[in-house]
Amino acid sequence: DFRFSSQISHLALDIGGTLIKLVYFSSNGDHCEESRDGTSIVVRNNGGSVLQGKLCFAKFETRKIDDCLEFIRFNILHHSGDQHQNGTACDKLTVKATGGGAFKFADLFKEKLGIVFDKEDEMHCLVGGANFLLKTVPREAFTYLDGQKEFVEIDHNDLYPYLLVNIGSGVSMIKVDGDGEYERISGTSLGGGTFLGLGKLLTKCKSFDELLELSHHGNNRVIDMLVGDIYGGTDYSKIGLSSTAIASSFGKAISDGKELEDYQPEDVARSLLRMISNNIGQIAYLNALRFDLKRIFFGGFFIRGLEYTMDTISVAVHFWSRGEAKAMFLTHEGFLGALGAFASYNK
Ligand code: ADP
Repeated sequence: DFRFSSQISHLALDIGGTLIKLVYFSSNGDHCEESRDGTSIVVRNNGGSVLQGKLCFAKFETRKIDDCLEFIRFNILHHSGDQHQNGTACDKLTVKATGGGAFKFADLFKEKLGIVFDKEDEMHCLVGGANFLLKTVPREAFTYLDGQKEFVEIDHNDLYPYLLVNIGSGVSMIKVDGDGEYERISGTSLGGGTFLGLGKLLTKCKSFDELLELSHHGNNRVIDMLVGDIYGGTDYSKIGLSSTAIASSFGKAISDGKELEDYQPEDVARSLLRMISNNIGQIAYLNALRFDLKRIFFGGFFIRGLEYTMDTISVAVHFWSRGEAKAMFLTHEGFLGALGAFASYNK
């Protein structure tokens, strides 16, 4: 049924509100874009797998979907005889697709590339992708605390239950009890889209990378109201709050008598990143507590392996759980849904 270029078979897409994620399989790895965000995964023919080669990753902004269509046309579909002159696939081509865009853009892919989506459920794919990574990819999960990244050995017999927190445009929190056994128990609309959207409005920056770069150079204490600001520099030790704990995100802006223009965009970006990460860490912890889950895995493209984000989330989980629960991150964080869709070829 497939008519991919000779070395590439299998393509899965996760078309989200902000980003399109692609996972495809290349038998020799030549067509693999060694992407900035996800490293390729080598698949060997052991354990009964019929595939041997590399899993490759790519991402595009959903608003620039034409770039994605071009990438698929030139890198993944046949270059030669099996393609019509207008670049569409000759035969009916089945591609796995998940995310809201699998519905929204189904006609576009059919019309432009001759691709018919085989749609997979979004939550099912997220969980499938996380389980696939945790079970098959060594050095996938890690903790990040006090500037130290430590890989976590996953015991396959003691993986479940866990809490999966996917931070995309919005945030989903899913209790995972096994393969295909899961329940979406919570979520929040204050996610990566909020960070990017508010960040663009407040700092006038144009892209996520620019906003991250800004936040990297900022100081949140310029704009966040700290416990010490209220207590005159001392801790509120009776309830365990240090003077540097944030009492109110963006709270200083009330009393500073400053306008937005008076703040450095770097500091605004930093406060915003801290606010969103802290909030997600805290909601995740509360949900872990609700179901007595000790392990929380964080995924989604919001994280982007950024130390400051991971540190903030880890500290929030550690602080609220008094060290009982553990925040863990995934090397292929942004590709859970796409990997889950890919894994569904084996159904
Ligand atoms: P979705 O499936 O909802 O698009 P993702 O897991 O792809 O979710 O994450 C999208 C979020 O990732 C954005 O809201 C933004 O915070 C962050 N992000 C990371 N890299 C980028 C990028 N290059 N462009 C836009 N957003 C990005």
